[in-house]
Amino acid sequence: MAIQKVAVIGAGTMGNGIAQVFAQSGFDVYLRDVEDAFVERGLGAIEKSLGRLVKKEKLSDDDAKAVRARVSSGTDITGASDADFVVEAIIEDVAAKQAIFEELDKITTSETILATNTSSISITKLAATTSRPDRFIGMHFMNPVPIMQLVEIIRGLGTSDETYAATEELSKKLGKVPVEVNDAPGFISNRVLMPLINEAIFALMEGVSTPEAIDTVMKLGMNHPMGPLTLADFIGLDVCLSIMRVLHDGFGDPKYRPCPLLVKMVDAGYLGRKSGKGFYDYAE
Ligand code: NAD
Repeated sequence: MAIQKVAVIGAGTMGNGIAQVFAQSGFDVYLRDVEDAFVERGLGAIEKSLGRLVKKEKLSDDDAKAVRARVSSGTDITGASDADFVVEAIIEDVAAKQAIFEELDKITTSETILATNTSSISITKLAATTSRPDRFIGMHFMNPVPIMQLVEIIRGLGTSDETYAATEELSKKLGKVPVEVNDAPGFISNRVLMPLINEAIFALMEGVSTPEAIDTVMKLGMNHPMGPLTLADFIGLDVCLSIMRVLHDGFGDPKYRPCPLLVKMVDAGYLGRKSGKGFYDYAE
């Protein structure tokens, strides 16, 4: 089946970026959120991003106009009913995602592929709420979507080879580099990244060194573009904690226990950049 129309459910950080890259690659996109204000915020983010590309002369004015014209939006889920491919990017909550997939399963054709951008929820579990686990897949974009090259494509237990192939081809059309992964807690990205961040927090908690020193070791010693504590602040400490809990619960292995300092910081409301305070201060 030729994929031409794509629906993106959720116009937040990831959803608006995903909608933008599809529209920039020539797909018609329907972007949906639960409230007009959230839809507008998503469209505003796309507008800003396109504006930056035009300013840097990476995109012409006419092309930016054409991208805008390819994006329709709204709060009505039935706007997704004629989509060939749906990417869900709503909040990271199992029940909310299951509810949305039950609805999408009803309103889309049986041919439509349903994809989720979840960072940590089992693809197999979400697929099981639909009548089409063979046409269900994980499509895990990285933040910021227009810039990051990787897409982890996660096969649920029932994902068909055709669905995988179609999603892989689609990712390449977006100019991304797809990597095939089987469904397991944290996939590859978060299974490797989060324990590294968690360990950096243990080192801080035990007084091994300061946040600045820990980050400098990883930046200058390991050539990481960002130190693990800076990265944790960027991702959000609540997100890091919830992913550690997914790894801990999913594997039942104590090596994935969340660092008590991480738990304490989240309890205190120190969530990183978005709250103005994390391992570093962002007050100004
Ligand atoms: P976000 O909070 O910025 O956006 C979520 C959006 O979904 C909000 O605008 C919210 O109003 C909307 N929403 C909630 N319920 C909805 C529904 N029923 N229908 C339509 N919209 C609904 O979150 P985000 O950071 O964009 O994350 C979205 C997903 O992407 C999550 O599953 C997250 O784990 C995953 N993810 C996030 C990142 C990241 O770095 N932020 C990276 C990779 C994957």
